Order: sequence, then structure tokens, then C-alpha cells
Amino acid sequence: MPRNNIDVLCLLQEHGAILEGHFVMPSGFHSQTYLQTSLLMQHPNLAQRIAGALSDKFTKKADVIMALTPSDSVLAQEVARTRGVRAIFASKDDDGNMILKHNFTIKEGENVLIVDDVAVSGRKINRAIELVNRLKGEVIGVGVIVDRSMGYLPLTVPLRSLLAYPIQTFTAKQCPLCAAKIPFTKVEGLNQ
Ligand SMILES: [Zn+2]
Repeated sequence: MPRNNIDVLCLLQEHGAILEGHFVMPSGFHSQTYLQTSLLMQHPNLAQRIAGALSDKFTKKADVIMALTPSDSVLAQEVARTRGVRAIFASKDDDGNMILKHNFTIKEGENVLIVDDVAVSGRKINRAIELVNRLKGEVIGVGVIVDRSMGYLPLTVPLRSLLAYPIQTFTAKQCPLCAAKIPFTKVEGLNQ
């Protein structure tokens, strides 16, 4: 059986990783649903299977796997392990710009596979692509566990996911949950 025969929706449901409430996403958009993939990635054997399936979606050689944030480094690490390459993660500087810290480098001409847990608007992914381009690396693609966007994301490289699971998001002004005065659901790291 190919490794990418992995039912991510079922796994999310089994692990209680599809949360319902009133969430403010990192992008500032509001949503009734939040997908907490860390509940899957906390299990090393599951993280390994997910990473293997995601890695199989890209045939091009990658020299380095890059996560968008330190908290997604587990995914980058596991994808890198299956390919025998480096895993790094991006960080933010004081102005909120995406940068590399910890003496991580991308050498000129290196092929970079970007990985992320959940794609929503694609803005953060685009910032990561810009970062790699600035360092003169080559982004071969973006792999996400779940693509929850409502349509095609404005990306210049292929985005592949293990699960397409479109979920509506709203601006604060248009949010029906805000209009109904439903309090925000607290998720650590999301909307304090
Ligand atoms: Zn709202």
C-alpha cells in the first residue's frame, strides 16, 4: 500500500483535532472551525506516517525542508528524515518579518521544500517563499497537511496537501459569530 493512503480527516476526527467555536486565526480572519494538527503530530509514529505521505507528493530533490514557524519544526524534521536532508524553521524578527535564526542557512541554488500544518490564506506561505527567494534558494513546492482554503491560493509554486478541507473564514466585520456576540474560544498560541 502506498504511504500516501492516509486518511487525515479520519485521524483529525479520532484525535479531537477539529475544534468548533469562534476562533481568530493568525491571519486575523475569524472562523467557526480550528484544526489543531499538533494533536496528531504529538504521536511520533503518526508524525512519521504523515510526513512520509507528504514527502511522497513531491518527486523533485530537496536539499532542505523548511517549516514556517518553530512549532511546525516536527513536520519539517520528519519529512527531512525520510529524505535524508536538513530541516530548518523560520522565525520572526522584532518587526514581525520572517527570517532565519539559529545560524540556519539556505545556500544559493539549494532546493527548498516548504512545509506547514494548515494552509488558510497563503499569506504566511508567500512570506516564506519570499524569504527563500531572498536567500537565492529555489522553492520546489509547499506541502501542507490540510489545505483549508476556500479556493486556489495565490502561490507561484505547487501546493500539495494530504487533505483538502475548505472552511469558511470571515473578516471581523463580516463575522456572523461576532455579530451574534459569541465569545472567542481560547486556544493556546492562537488568540490570547
Ligand atoms: Zn468573529
